Amino acid sequence: MKLYNTLTRKVEEFTPQNTERVKMYTCGPTVYSFAHIGNFTAYIYWDLLVRTIRLNGWKEDRVLNITDVGHLASDADDGEDKMEKGARREGKTVWQIAEMYMNDYLANFRALNLIEPTQICRATDFIEEDIALVDALDKKGFVYETSDGLYYDTSKFASYADFAHLDLENLKAGARVEFNNEKHNASDFALWKWVREGEDHAMQWEYRGRAGYPGWHIECAAIIHEKLGETIDIHTGGIDHIPVHHTNEIAELEGAYDKQMSRFWVHNNFITIDGEKISKSLGNVYMFSDLIAKGFSHLDYKMWVLQGHFQSERNFSFSDLAAARQRLTNYRNFAALRWQKPATDMSEVRAEILEQLNNNLNSAGALAELDKAIKNNVPSNEFVEFLDEAFGLKLAESTPDISDELKAKIAERKQAKTERDFAKSDALRDEIAKAGIKLLDGANEMLWQYE
Ligand code: AMP
Ligand code: ZN
Repeated sequence: MKLYNTLTRKVEEFTPQNTERVKMYTCGPTVYSFAHIGNFTAYIYWDLLVRTIRLNGWKEDRVLNITDVGHLASDADDGEDKMEKGARREGKTVWQIAEMYMNDYLANFRALNLIEPTQICRATDFIEEDIALVDALDKKGFVYETSDGLYYDTSKFASYADFAHLDLENLKAGARVEFNNEKHNASDFALWKWVREGEDHAMQWEYRGRAGYPGWHIECAAIIHEKLGETIDIHTGGIDHIPVHHTNEIAELEGAYDKQMSRFWVHNNFITIDGEKISKSLGNVYMFSDLIAKGFSHLDYKMWVLQGHFQSERNFSFSDLAAARQRLTNYRNFAALRWQKPATDMSEVRAEILEQLNNNLNSAGALAELDKAIKNNVPSNEFVEFLDEAFGLKLAESTPDISDELKAKIAERKQAKTERDFAKSDALRDEIAKAGIKLLDGANEMLWQYE
């Protein structure tokens, strides 16, 4: 299996350290508002990654975090905690906000038929682990204190600039000096923030005799260390995470424990909508509820995402979504053929699909192989199940076999038509249509499909 590794900026052969436990970590959502469809592209691509890992005969141990505290509005560690801001906006407690948006996120996750991570970890359940990590970093001399918190001294971590190919000199020149001039270096970041006098921060914990809360990056590092241990196999996230969030996660874990943090890093690109950046001011922040209101399903969107590549910036439009929905319908009709005709040998197609997926998750190529094969094949049950394992589009579930009674009616209607008894044939067609089945005459020798 080949995978583009941000660490080396190369497509590399991926082999896990332990095939029974491919250690994976995915940076999850900050649950302060509804996630938009762009946010979900990442989880769809990482689902494809998990499925491909499984198709290679390996098993994953995958952790996803939920950020329910400490994600500051700006990467520069100023601004409000996003969660506190969300709570104020909605007149609710931070805990209510977290609960509500986490549940919404998970409901969409399931509706997209994404494989459940082995463990889902909420940041607020790992405060002790955060503190232990800050202490470990402190022992090694990486930590200094300012009036507003504990900071990581990035000049002490020699390879700090390597992961994101950062130009630290430029960063220094570009830093706004008037802001947080207690920081030693422009790239230093908060490990832990103190709750300041008069600051209304509902989520707070005591550490070093003062009330405070964790910085954003520490939660991922602490959860990884606790749940997956040293050196994981694959870490995933959005490309926006490379220069700050992931760079800082590496500085924290490799600084504290002197072990490579992750062997592979994979990052997804962004989507635009009708050629524009997703933004509130443009009114194009679509949620799944908007797609559903327009008659689309979660799986139609998943289909659209799978037609592209995780490294490419892609443009979303409703006309392209409609095309994706049609393609999914074609696959369902293909799956429905398995109840009507003897299966053909599709082992080569299967091998080609796997080869495409193993080629840096080329789902578009894999789907193109399937399109070619559809025209002159009939799938077995097993092949439909394989497609579901590979893409998770619920083809088997959405195309169940029909009853013997209906099958008899379809045969009876065919007979009536042969005998030119059109009244009977039409009556039977209407009856069959009521069961959600559309009769086809001649097309691919298929007798019927689901409406
Ligand atoms: P946000 O809640 O805006 O911080 O977004 C959470 C994560 O979703 C970001 O860190 C990105 O990796 C990802 N994301 C945001 N916007 C998009 C987009 N337009 N396309 C793909 N991913 C996105
Ligand atoms: Zn993270």
